Amino acid sequence: MCGIFGYANYNVEKTRGQIIENLVEGLSKLEYRGYDSTGIGIDGEHEFGHSAVKAIQLYKQVGKVASLKDEIKSRNPDTAEVLPNHVGIAHTRWATHGGVSQANCHPQPSGDANEFIVVHNGIITNYRELKTLLKTKGYTFSSDTDTEIIAKLFKFLWFDGQVCLLP
Ligand code: GLU
Repeated sequence: MCGIFGYANYNVEKTRGQIIENLVEGLSKLEYRGYDSTGIGIDGEHEFGHSAVKAIQLYKQVGKVASLKDEIKSRNPDTAEVLPNHVGIAHTRWATHGGVSQANCHPQPSGDANEFIVVHNGIITNYRELKTLLKTKGYTFSSDTDTEIIAKLFKFLWFDGQVCLLP
């Protein structure tokens, strides 16, 4: 069991600080569903000249939501930055695969560039087979969770497989 919370807006200006506050507040209400570790991921759009650039930020910590708050504070995010379009996901974990560690906290990323990030409730029963397959395709893993498979499988299907939803 775990707690999953999401917060998204299109064309509604919120500061990074407000988004973080909403996600953390949502997690505190779900703390009873998973209490060994927590994490949030924020996908905000920034204007750079004429183009919008996506940059996903992850904040994770073992322990209660209070520890996550400390972790966020220590990373000193730009809380004043205004993000008109944003998606945030949040998770309180109850570990089933992989011990309680920062690397095993959700969201789990598809790679260093965070192309996809995943929060997950439950167990992926065939994760070993999928992990073996992805390793043969050159993927490396930074956690012991079953969840990381989903993020890496998305990346494999999106960039290296047959799935292409872009025009
Ligand atoms: N199986 C996943 C993990 O151990 C999710 C556990 C949960 O539902 O919190 O990371």
